[in-house]
Amino acid sequence: MKLGLAGRSVDPGRIFCIGRNYEDHVREMGSKPPAEPVVFMKPRECLVAPGTPIPFPPHGGELHHEAEVVILIGDRSPARPAGWERVAGVALGIDLTLRDVQARLKAAGLPWEAAKAFESSAPLGDLVATAALASPDEIVFECRVNGALRQQGSTADMIFPVPRIIEALETIWRLRPGDLIYTGTPAGVGPLRPGDRVEIASPAIGTFGWEIESAVESVSDI
Ligand code: ZN
Repeated sequence: MKLGLAGRSVDPGRIFCIGRNYEDHVREMGSKPPAEPVVFMKPRECLVAPGTPIPFPPHGGELHHEAEVVILIGDRSPARPAGWERVAGVALGIDLTLRDVQARLKAAGLPWEAAKAFESSAPLGDLVATAALASPDEIVFECRVNGALRQQGSTADMIFPVPRIIEALETIWRLRPGDLIYTGTPAGVGPLRPGDRVEIASPAIGTFGWEIESAVESVSDI
Protein backbone atom coordinates (compact mmCIF):
# COMPACT_ATOMS: atom_id res chain seq x y z
CA MET A 1 0.00 0.00 0.00
CA LYS A 2 1.26 3.47 -0.93
CA LEU A 3 0.64 6.38 1.42
CA GLY A 4 -0.54 9.76 0.14
CA LEU A 5 0.37 13.01 1.84
CA ALA A 6 -0.32 16.48 0.49
CA GLY A 7 -0.50 15.17 -3.09
CA ARG A 8 2.74 13.18 -2.78
CA SER A 9 3.09 9.41 -2.69
CA VAL A 10 5.11 7.97 0.21
CA ASP A 11 6.40 4.41 0.59
CA PRO A 12 5.58 3.09 4.06
CA GLY A 13 8.60 2.09 6.13
CA ARG A 14 8.43 0.12 9.36
CA ILE A 15 5.30 -0.02 11.52
CA PHE A 16 5.96 0.52 15.22
CA CYS A 17 3.06 0.03 17.65
CA ILE A 18 2.80 1.31 21.20
CA GLY A 19 0.88 -0.87 23.67
CA ARG A 20 -0.69 0.17 26.99
CA ASN A 21 -0.64 3.92 26.28
CA TYR A 22 -4.07 4.89 27.68
CA GLU A 23 -4.79 4.27 31.36
CA ASP A 24 -8.45 3.26 30.85
CA HIS A 25 -7.38 0.58 28.34
CA VAL A 26 -4.55 -0.61 30.61
CA ARG A 27 -7.16 -1.09 33.35
CA GLU A 28 -9.66 -2.95 31.11
CA MET A 29 -6.86 -5.39 30.17
CA GLY A 30 -5.98 -5.95 33.85
CA SER A 31 -2.44 -4.64 33.25
CA LYS A 32 -0.37 -2.01 35.06
CA PRO A 33 0.68 1.32 33.46
CA PRO A 34 4.19 0.75 32.09
CA ALA A 35 7.24 2.79 33.16
CA GLU A 36 8.49 2.88 29.55
CA PRO A 37 6.51 2.61 26.29
CA VAL A 38 5.65 -0.98 25.31
CA VAL A 39 6.75 -1.46 21.68
CA PHE A 40 5.95 -4.11 19.11
CA MET A 41 6.01 -4.10 15.28
CA LYS A 42 3.95 -5.18 12.30
CA PRO A 43 5.32 -5.69 8.78
CA ARG A 44 4.22 -2.94 6.38
CA GLU A 45 2.54 -5.61 4.25
CA CYS A 46 -0.18 -5.71 6.98
CA LEU A 47 -1.51 -2.27 5.94
CA VAL A 48 -5.04 -2.18 4.51
CA ALA A 49 -6.45 0.86 2.70
CA PRO A 50 -9.95 2.10 3.58
CA GLY A 51 -12.71 0.16 1.82
CA THR A 52 -10.61 -2.96 1.24
CA PRO A 53 -12.38 -5.93 2.86
CA ILE A 54 -10.58 -7.59 5.77
CA PRO A 55 -10.81 -11.39 5.92
CA PHE A 56 -11.33 -12.82 9.39
CA PRO A 57 -7.96 -14.44 10.22
CA PRO A 58 -8.10 -18.24 10.15
CA HIS A 59 -5.88 -18.86 13.19
CA GLY A 60 -7.92 -17.16 15.94
CA GLY A 61 -11.43 -16.62 17.28
CA GLU A 62 -11.57 -13.19 18.96
CA LEU A 63 -10.67 -10.42 16.53
CA HIS A 64 -10.57 -7.10 18.44
CA HIS A 65 -10.54 -3.52 17.13
CA GLU A 66 -8.03 -1.12 18.69
CA ALA A 67 -8.62 2.36 17.22
CA GLU A 68 -5.43 4.43 17.27
CA VAL A 69 -3.91 7.68 16.07
CA VAL A 70 -1.06 6.85 13.69
CA ILE A 71 1.84 9.17 12.93
CA LEU A 72 4.10 9.24 9.88
CA ILE A 73 7.75 10.14 10.41
CA GLY A 74 9.15 12.66 7.91
CA ASP A 75 12.07 15.00 7.64
CA ARG A 76 12.41 17.39 10.57
CA SER A 77 10.48 20.65 10.08
CA PRO A 78 10.42 23.60 12.51
CA ALA A 79 7.09 24.65 10.93
CA ARG A 80 5.30 21.95 12.94
CA PRO A 81 3.98 22.23 16.52
CA ALA A 82 6.49 21.79 19.38
CA GLY A 83 7.55 18.16 19.84
CA TRP A 84 6.01 17.20 16.48
CA GLU A 85 8.90 18.39 14.26
CA ARG A 86 9.59 14.81 13.08
CA VAL A 87 5.93 14.02 12.34
CA ALA A 88 4.97 14.71 8.71
CA GLY A 89 1.41 13.38 8.89
CA VAL A 90 -1.27 11.95 11.12
CA ALA A 91 -3.88 9.28 10.34
CA LEU A 92 -6.28 6.96 12.11
CA GLY A 93 -5.66 3.23 12.09
CA ILE A 94 -6.79 0.01 13.72
CA ASP A 95 -4.33 -2.25 15.50
CA LEU A 96 -6.30 -5.45 14.83
CA THR A 97 -5.58 -7.97 17.55
CA LEU A 98 -6.48 -11.64 17.99
CA ARG A 99 -7.21 -11.42 21.71
CA ASP A 100 -7.51 -15.17 22.33
CA VAL A 101 -4.20 -15.83 20.59
CA GLN A 102 -2.57 -12.93 22.49
CA ALA A 103 -3.83 -14.28 25.84
CA ARG A 104 -2.31 -17.69 25.08
CA LEU A 105 1.01 -16.18 24.01
CA LYS A 106 1.12 -13.84 27.04
CA ALA A 107 0.42 -16.73 29.42
CA ALA A 108 3.24 -18.73 27.85
CA GLY A 109 5.63 -15.75 27.89
CA LEU A 110 5.94 -15.88 24.09
CA PRO A 111 6.20 -13.04 21.50
CA TRP A 112 2.97 -11.52 20.13
CA GLU A 113 3.41 -11.62 16.33
CA ALA A 114 0.73 -14.26 15.68
CA ALA A 115 -1.77 -12.11 17.65
CA LYS A 116 -0.77 -8.71 16.28
CA ALA A 117 1.18 -8.93 13.02
CA PHE A 118 -0.97 -11.26 10.87
CA GLU A 119 -2.18 -10.54 7.30
CA SER A 120 -4.42 -7.42 7.03
CA SER A 121 -3.84 -6.53 10.71
CA ALA A 122 -3.13 -2.82 10.13
CA PRO A 123 -6.03 -0.93 8.52
CA LEU A 124 -4.92 2.66 7.92
CA GLY A 125 -6.93 5.73 6.91
CA ASP A 126 -5.73 8.69 4.83
CA LEU A 127 -3.01 10.97 6.18
CA VAL A 128 -3.42 14.63 7.09
CA ALA A 129 -0.34 16.89 7.13
CA THR A 130 0.75 17.67 10.71
CA ALA A 131 1.09 21.35 9.83
CA ALA A 132 -2.64 21.41 8.99
CA LEU A 133 -3.66 20.27 12.50
CA ALA A 134 -4.59 23.01 14.98
CA SER A 135 -3.72 21.00 18.12
CA PRO A 136 -2.18 17.56 17.50
CA ASP A 137 -1.87 16.97 21.27
CA GLU A 138 -5.69 17.04 21.52
CA ILE A 139 -6.90 14.89 18.62
CA VAL A 140 -10.25 13.31 19.53
CA PHE A 141 -11.23 10.11 17.75
CA GLU A 142 -13.75 7.28 17.98
CA CYS A 143 -14.52 3.79 16.74
CA ARG A 144 -17.96 2.52 15.70
CA VAL A 145 -19.02 -1.00 14.79
CA ASN A 146 -22.20 -1.25 12.68
CA GLY A 147 -22.92 2.33 13.78
CA ALA A 148 -22.64 1.65 17.56
CA LEU A 149 -20.03 3.64 19.48
CA ARG A 150 -17.32 1.35 20.91
CA GLN A 151 -14.28 3.58 21.62
CA GLN A 152 -13.65 7.26 22.25
CA GLY A 153 -10.29 8.83 22.97
CA SER A 154 -8.07 11.88 22.78
CA THR A 155 -4.33 12.08 22.27
CA ALA A 156 -4.39 14.35 25.34
CA ASP A 157 -4.92 11.20 27.45
CA MET A 158 -1.84 9.28 26.29
CA ILE A 159 0.44 8.02 29.08
CA PHE A 160 3.40 8.65 26.73
CA PRO A 161 2.64 11.57 24.39
CA VAL A 162 4.00 11.58 20.84
CA PRO A 163 7.29 13.46 21.60
CA ARG A 164 8.05 10.96 24.38
CA ILE A 165 7.25 7.98 22.10
CA ILE A 166 9.65 9.30 19.44
CA GLU A 167 12.36 9.89 22.04
CA ALA A 168 11.94 6.36 23.43
CA LEU A 169 11.97 4.68 19.98
CA GLU A 170 15.08 6.64 19.00
CA THR A 171 17.06 5.09 21.84
CA ILE A 172 16.63 1.78 19.95
CA TRP A 173 16.02 2.56 16.24
CA ARG A 174 17.00 5.36 13.88
CA LEU A 175 13.61 6.58 12.72
CA ARG A 176 13.40 7.21 8.99
CA PRO A 177 10.94 9.11 6.79
CA GLY A 178 8.09 6.73 5.96
CA ASP A 179 8.08 4.95 9.32
CA LEU A 180 4.62 4.71 10.91
CA ILE A 181 3.79 4.61 14.60
CA TYR A 182 0.44 3.31 15.92
CA THR A 183 0.27 5.20 19.21
CA GLY A 184 -2.00 3.04 21.38
CA THR A 185 -5.71 2.58 22.00
CA PRO A 186 -8.20 3.90 24.56
CA ALA A 187 -10.72 1.69 26.43
CA GLY A 188 -13.61 -0.09 24.72
CA VAL A 189 -11.73 -2.64 22.60
CA GLY A 190 -14.07 -5.42 21.54
CA PRO A 191 -14.91 -8.14 19.05
CA LEU A 192 -15.43 -7.90 15.29
CA ARG A 193 -17.36 -10.60 13.46
CA PRO A 194 -17.75 -11.49 9.79
CA GLY A 195 -20.24 -9.06 8.25
CA ASP A 196 -19.38 -6.21 10.66
CA ARG A 197 -18.46 -2.75 9.43
CA VAL A 198 -15.85 -0.99 11.59
CA GLU A 199 -15.41 2.76 11.27
CA ILE A 200 -12.88 5.14 12.80
CA ALA A 201 -13.43 8.88 12.79
CA SER A 202 -11.95 12.16 13.96
CA PRO A 203 -13.15 15.69 13.13
CA ALA A 204 -9.51 16.65 12.48
CA ILE A 205 -8.69 13.68 10.21
CA GLY A 206 -11.81 12.17 8.62
CA THR A 207 -13.88 8.96 8.67
CA PHE A 208 -12.64 5.61 7.35
CA GLY A 209 -14.31 2.20 7.27
CA TRP A 210 -13.69 -1.48 6.59
CA GLU A 211 -15.90 -4.58 6.27
CA ILE A 212 -14.94 -7.82 7.97
CA GLU A 213 -15.39 -10.81 5.68
CA SER A 214 -15.83 -14.45 6.60
CA ALA A 215 -12.77 -16.44 7.55
CA VAL A 216 -10.43 -17.50 4.80
CA GLU A 217 -9.36 -21.12 4.77
CA SER A 218 -5.81 -20.20 3.93
CA VAL A 219 -3.98 -16.90 4.12
CA SER A 220 -2.67 -17.56 0.62
CA ASP A 221 -6.23 -16.62 -0.50
CA ILE A 222 -5.74 -13.05 0.81
ZN1 ZN B 1 -2.84 -1.27 20.05
